[in-house]
Amino acid sequence: MALIVQKFGGSSVANAERVMNVARIVTDTYAQGNDVVVVVSAQGDTTDDLIEKAQEINPKATKREMDMLLSAGEQISISLLAMAIEKLGYPVCSLLGWQAGFSTNSVYSAARIKKVNPERIQQEIGRKKIVVVAGFQGLNKYDDITTLGRGGSDTSAVAIAAAMHADRCQIYTDVEGVYTADPRKIKDAVKLSEITYDEMLELATLGAQVLNNRSVEMAKKYNVIVEVLSSLTHAPGTLVKERVKMEKMLVRGVTKDTNVARVSIIGVPNEPGMAYKIFGKLAAENINVDIILQSVGRNDTKDITFTVAADHAEATKDILSKLELTSDLKVEIDAENVAKVSAVGAGMETHPGVAAKMFQALFEADVNIQMISTSEIKISVLIDKKDADDAVAAIHAAFIPEEK
Ligand code: ADP
Ligand code: ASP
Ligand code: MG
Repeated sequence: MALIVQKFGGSSVANAERVMNVARIVTDTYAQGNDVVVVVSAQGDTTDDLIEKAQEINPKATKREMDMLLSAGEQISISLLAMAIEKLGYPVCSLLGWQAGFSTNSVYSAARIKKVNPERIQQEIGRKKIVVVAGFQGLNKYDDITTLGRGGSDTSAVAIAAAMHADRCQIYTDVEGVYTADPRKIKDAVKLSEITYDEMLELATLGAQVLNNRSVEMAKKYNVIVEVLSSLTHAPGTLVKERVKMEKMLVRGVTKDTNVARVSIIGVPNEPGMAYKIFGKLAAENINVDIILQSVGRNDTKDITFTVAADHAEATKDILSKLELTSDLKVEIDAENVAKVSAVGAGMETHPGVAAKMFQALFEADVNIQMISTSEIKISVLIDKKDADDAVAAIHAAFIPEEK
């Protein structure tokens, strides 16, 4: 007998028929003699719809109240799934995040899980129940509901698998696994049978929404092997783990991220401490900065350009407007027209020429590069948003087909 954690995303529970389909997958697993903990997301577009409802009333609503609202989506799906499981004649118990023992910090709308105390889950399993847990939510030290950020149910599932030393952690979604690019956009995308935590972490952070990046971070930390697979077919999925068989593929994935804003600060005094002052303030407000470019100082000033998530553009503007570095500092922010396209693969660390091949593909597709950043296993470029899909297709075509 094994303990299996199964997570189902929004599209897998979008309507009554899909909920019954999930109930069948879960009860089949249980009927084979396993203990099963199920994590579910809100149905279909529920979370987006709730955000829209809030916007109609108060676009500046506090994040605390947003979390109170958004957590309701998962409450609906756990109860409906539990009812479907009851209908199939199996014992079941649904639990909200706090009932399932999720403690988080207090960063509303992007809370981090501090601890999962699975006592109640364990009790219910002891009573032979299938346990259905609301993903994406927890409780902070003030006993307030928090949410984990978009796509956070993946992290809930991995956290339970880690806390309970589960034998398997299965993330069911609407595609058959992790592909070399979004299979809905790139017809030739290839399903990967395995991928390393490090590669998956880069892909998830750089726009492949199939797994939330924090879930991968947590899986790596606690060594949870994650299986990504479809709730709609029986095809084998993708295993995310520490080591994978050596593969020839240099590039294992190409991603696009349009949630990007380019920020330029022009006229920064050319003296020590400026980068610290700027980025220290942003870090204090939990704003993640990505590609950073600083011009060589001329005369008494230099320019610093960097990217942040487009959702953080307004907050970044506010913070920078309060920075009194000099009176004639100019800040320009473009949160509308840029996108980041990246190629990821552990093999590129030891193979020269990957960047050159990627830049050639972009040149041949007539795409202009605004900024570049690299790490051992990824190359990212900032480009015009209107070119992003062409760029992904061009890079994918340059690296993937011959590897098939
Ligand atoms: P869920 O509702 O199950 O959490 P998501 O919509 O969050 O599902 O993630 C699944 C989607 O991720 C797929 O429908 C697919 O379009 C998209 N996706 C983007 N990049 C990739 C990739 N490299 N491999 C697989 N899916 C990807
Ligand atoms: N329902 C939440 C969202 O839409 C969490 C999730 O789907 O994982 O982001
Ligand atoms: Mg998701």
